[in-house]
Amino acid sequence: MTTHVIVGAGLAGAKAAQTLREEGFDGEIVLIGAESERPYERPPLSKEYLQGRSEREKIFVHPSGWYAEHGVRLRLGLRATGVDLDQHVVRLDDGSSQPYNKLLIATGATPRRLPGPAHYLRTVGDSEAIRERFAAGGRVIVVGAGWIGLESAAAARQAGCEVTILEPEPTPLHRALGPELGDVFAALHRRHGVGLRLGTGVADITETGVRLSTGERLDADVVVAGVGAVPETGLAREAGLEVGEGILTDASLRTSHPDVFAAGDVAEAFHPLYGRRIRVEHWANALNGGPVAARAMLGQDAVYDKIPYFYTDQYELGMEFSGDITGYDEVVYRGSVEDLDFIAYWLRDRRVIAGMNVNRWDVVREIQDLIRSGAAIDPKELSSD
Ligand SMILES: Cc1cc2nc3c(=O)[nH]c(=O)nc-3n(C[C@H](O)[C@H](O)[C@H](O)COP(=O)(O)OP(=O)(O)OC[C@H]3O[C@@H](n4cnc5c(N)ncnc54)[C@H](O)[C@@H]3O)c2cc1C
Repeated sequence: MTTHVIVGAGLAGAKAAQTLREEGFDGEIVLIGAESERPYERPPLSKEYLQGRSEREKIFVHPSGWYAEHGVRLRLGLRATGVDLDQHVVRLDDGSSQPYNKLLIATGATPRRLPGPAHYLRTVGDSEAIRERFAAGGRVIVVGAGWIGLESAAAARQAGCEVTILEPEPTPLHRALGPELGDVFAALHRRHGVGLRLGTGVADITETGVRLSTGERLDADVVVAGVGAVPETGLAREAGLEVGEGILTDASLRTSHPDVFAAGDVAEAFHPLYGRRIRVEHWANALNGGPVAARAMLGQDAVYDKIPYFYTDQYELGMEFSGDITGYDEVVYRGSVEDLDFIAYWLRDRRVIAGMNVNRWDVVREIQDLIRSGAAIDPKELSSD
């Protein structure tokens, strides 16, 4: 019997397994995951689940019976330790081996660590541990004003903690959004009573707080660090697959070996629109990339060409972001930034390369069509409601 194996039981892996069945694959599907939980979604872990506003059952990708019902053999609490590309075998940390015909690597990413004791937020267990600490109140220091840092800060404020965010860049989300929109998030958090120390690096973390690069000490009851993630490429690298920052793939998510594919956070895939490889750590990339890899595993002509898409909720701000701001030379607004009711467009040579809708909905398609068209546009046209 043909066996397709997926290593990494996260969103990309679970959606790939689902697509294999939906596309009529009637062989064996084995989904291997290092965590003890069945596949779940991570966005709630820094939002409603962290704030205690959502039940645990809601985070899972499929109901618990789904895997058996669809003939997907879910092997949890097992780590793949090696892949023999010639023999078509995955080695597992219980000493067994799992043969495959086609293999998907969807091993995600793991938080970048700082020296010293801090909480990191990647798993459901991490979210529960942090929620418990926030519920106890006290002083929280968040290291890093990226998405996870800001969402954690919002949850800590909503739990009534005193919160300080430390960030070496001049604004939050500096690389993702640039300074203009970074300032919007800085103002939002300040309005909610968060102390923002920008341009401030951390030298080390101790049991009682942090020491800043300036030598100053700040006391804290809890330190949460959100300083980026590192893709889990070890398996691919050791197997001899081509790896850059992520596992290198073509637009069909096929790696340098024809029977091995990669999807989700771990993949650095050729994107037809950008004409280069990109690695995207967003929910939608796992949601849509897993199915494309599955179709390619079945020999279909599948191409992943979605525009990167991200969303966040912090306090009263809900937003969706599409595109990539690299190289922008102008930001144009439609609506009211002050009232948090607007769309921001990032332009390069008068072409829209990214857009963010804040508390305005059903406009993502329109924004993405503008990005995809590559057409020059009059900024005045963009800014008029
Ligand atoms: C707290 C948090 C909040 C987020 N919020 C948002 C958001 O609001 N919007 C958004 O767009 N994105 C968000 N993201 C990003 C999004 O969740 C990720 O892009 C997505 O989870 C990636 O899915 P994945 O399947 O590629 O990887 P993962 O979900 O990381 O799954 C990979 C799985 O593989 C397992 N694994 C790794 N190595 C092995 C191995 N050798 N053997 C077996 N198993 C292995 C891991 O344990 C993990 O369970 C958030 C991420 C986090 C952590």
